[in-house]
Amino acid sequence: MSDCLFCRIAAKEIPAKIVFEDALCLAFDDINPQAPHHVLIIPRSHFATLDDMPASEEAVLGHLMIVATRLARERGIAKSGFRLVANCQSAAGQSVFHVHLHLMGGRSFHWPPG
Ligand code: 5GP
Ligand code: ZN
Repeated sequence: MSDCLFCRIAAKEIPAKIVFEDALCLAFDDINPQAPHHVLIIPRSHFATLDDMPASEEAVLGHLMIVATRLARERGIAKSGFRLVANCQSAAGQSVFHVHLHLMGGRSFHWPPG
């Protein structure tokens, strides 16, 4: 989608600090990090929200979590702990309407989140 910020980052039209990419996904640093490690992992294909992803995307969604966990291991935060977040719709905090996972780590987190 040409007017989607994350599609434009995936197309390299808008710069981002890309830390991993493959055929299915892209991972890049969040522009406004909420933790020492804050990476966004997105599917290359555009879906506005998790609610728009059909069951046929199961492998892609699973891949995002595998990639996020691998990045956490590589950064040495897998054992100490990390958090994966997927906000779905505005009331949950979603502000960019292209599905993404937040990988956050390097500090302690509270539960429940705000
Ligand atoms: P959401 O609120 O939709 O769950 O998360 C969107 C995230 O995208 C936010 O954490 C925000 O800081 C990040 N973000 C928004 N615009 C940009 C941008 O232009 N570049 C990067 N790297 N991150 C962005
Ligand atoms: Zn998009």
